[in-house]
Amino acid sequence: PVRTRFAPSPTGYLHIGGARTALFSWAFARRHGGTFILRIEDTDVARSTPEAVQAIIDGMNWLGLEEDEGPYYQMRRMDRYKEVIRQMLAAGTAYHCYTSPEELDRLREEQRARGEKPRYDGRWRPESGKTLPAPPAGVQPVVRFRNPPDGAVAWDDLVKGRIEISNAELDDFIIARADGTPTYNFCVVVDDWDMRISHVIRGDDHVNNTPRQINVLRALGAEVPLYAHLSMILGDDGTKLSKRHGAVSVMQYHEDGYLPEAVVNYLARLGWSHGDDEIFSREQFVEWFDLDHITPSAAQFNTEKLNWLNAQYIKKADDAYLAAEMANRLAHRGVNPETGPELEAVAALYKDRAASLNELADAAELFCADVHPAPEVIAQHLTDAAKAALASLRTRFEQAAWDKAALTQAIKDTMAEHGLKMPQVAIPLRVAVLGVPQTPAIDAVLEVLGRERVLARLARHL
Ligand code: GLU
Repeated sequence: PVRTRFAPSPTGYLHIGGARTALFSWAFARRHGGTFILRIEDTDVARSTPEAVQAIIDGMNWLGLEEDEGPYYQMRRMDRYKEVIRQMLAAGTAYHCYTSPEELDRLREEQRARGEKPRYDGRWRPESGKTLPAPPAGVQPVVRFRNPPDGAVAWDDLVKGRIEISNAELDDFIIARADGTPTYNFCVVVDDWDMRISHVIRGDDHVNNTPRQINVLRALGAEVPLYAHLSMILGDDGTKLSKRHGAVSVMQYHEDGYLPEAVVNYLARLGWSHGDDEIFSREQFVEWFDLDHITPSAAQFNTEKLNWLNAQYIKKADDAYLAAEMANRLAHRGVNPETGPELEAVAALYKDRAASLNELADAAELFCADVHPAPEVIAQHLTDAAKAALASLRTRFEQAAWDKAALTQAIKDTMAEHGLKMPQVAIPLRVAVLGVPQTPAIDAVLEVLGRERVLARLARHL
């Protein structure tokens, strides 16, 4: 059975790269009726925080990536790691090493001086026919993995193809520190084994860990999972995606007014493709997703593309959903949404032209809050001639039936009366009622705003 995991280290927030890894692992499990596991790799006690765990969970919830199992926490599995270390010591696949840090430094220096790559030389590694020195008194040893001395370790990476590393390149890495705590690379192995992970889908910054992890799995007699290493994500400018590129935290996208569906759709296309299909639902993605169409080269983030997708999703979104999002955002800004017309009507007016939920909230703010056009906007648009027209309009609006046809008629009659063209009436009217010269069709705006608000806003300028 397919079992995948997302194994973040809780040292920050859920960033775009992590979210894509989570999405691919999740989708792969869903696609194959498998199990998606969340595992929190919190053994770096100095850098892991509960807030970061929460940020990861919030990010995944927002994206709708629900785990089937977990979250597991590595810090709660310490006894298990120690148990496996004891078993490996007993089996001879691991051994105690008493080399002090100073000795190791000296060794590395000597190796560098000889032009060699610094590596542990196996001085405490038991070999048949080799006599080890007596353990120095009072020194707590580390535990090292007994890496196979020759041959190579190879795997067919599901993204990168065959990768082969000579065992001579790998030294006997530390699996437990002198204080007994297991190291990162070791915990991952025990977890992937115990959790019966079938496919490890993760960032290619872990490619160097894989040969070591495979060797330990083999030493444990464990089945080796399949690996898919995802290439990194570059920013708009082609350099490695980092904080410099603005919003890299997934929840920042939430704050900036992106729909989670748009972000999921965008992430799905980041390094994976299905022909020319650009817009597809989460369900469609799950149906299509495979590891064969992941590009081995780096994927480049494209904010314009994301914005375009977001606009498409806003267009298609339910007015009630948009209205609820707008109301939250208004409340967050200290604007009472109750003071405006039905936000669903405002959403319907603006959804075809908004690139984000924040832009929709900006529009809604014009309908809800007191609008005070900037002095230069007033000076430019609310001239004496314009005000005279607005005054006639006000009289007509007081009596007009409040529907688009009647409102358009009132504007046309005013144009005729004053010898003005449509923009000469409609623009000052927009400025007076919404504070800005550009809005959707004025009759629709007036209809949504309602007679009372329109008359009160006109009165302010007359
Ligand atoms: N904890 C690692 C990270 O956050 C992932 C390890 C793995 O997927 O094997 O980068």
